[in-house]
Amino acid sequence: MNDLRTEGADHFHHHLVCIECGAVDEIQEDLLGDVEKIVEKDWNFKIKDHRLTFHGICHRCHGDNE
Ligand SMILES: [Zn+2]
Ligand SMILES: [Zn+2]
Repeated sequence: MNDLRTEGADHFHHHLVCIECGAVDEIQEDLLGDVEKIVEKDWNFKIKDHRLTFHGICHRCHGDNE
């Protein structure tokens, strides 16, 4: 009875953490759909959630905007 789309609704678990300034940017789109399929198949594991954090240097710090 819930017409709300849940795809991506609570998707705040992909983070880009800058090791220079500490900024945390969120990735809204889910990049791990294929990875989940592989894990569920190979490990017979029912995935309910996941978190992903990238550590690096953000565009504001490395100053390389092409
Ligand atoms: Zn930064
Ligand atoms: Zn995700």
